[in-house]
Amino acid sequence: MTSFYDEDEIEDFEWDEETETYYYPCPCGDRFEITKDDLIGGEDIATCPSCSLILKVIYDQEQFEKESTEEQISLQKCTPTAAI
Ligand SMILES: [Zn+2]
Repeated sequence: MTSFYDEDEIEDFEWDEETETYYYPCPCGDRFEITKDDLIGGEDIATCPSCSLILKVIYDQEQFEKESTEEQISLQKCTPTAAI
C-alpha cells in the first residue's frame, strides 16, 4: 500500500527549464520533484529528496506521450546519418 501526502495537478508545479524538472513545495521545507522524463514514462509520483513523503501528480499523460513519440521519430531519422 502506498499512501500519498497529497495529490496535485502538474499545472500547480513549478517548472525548471534547466533541469527539466517540476517542483512542488514539501512541508519539510524542501521540494518534491519529478522530471519530464518521468512523466513521459508514465511515472506520476513526485518524491522529496529530504524526507519520505511522496506526492501524486495529476497530469495529462497523452500530452507527454505525444512529445516523446515525436522525439523518438526524429531520433530514428537522424541516427543513420550520424552513423555514416
Ligand atoms: Zn520533504
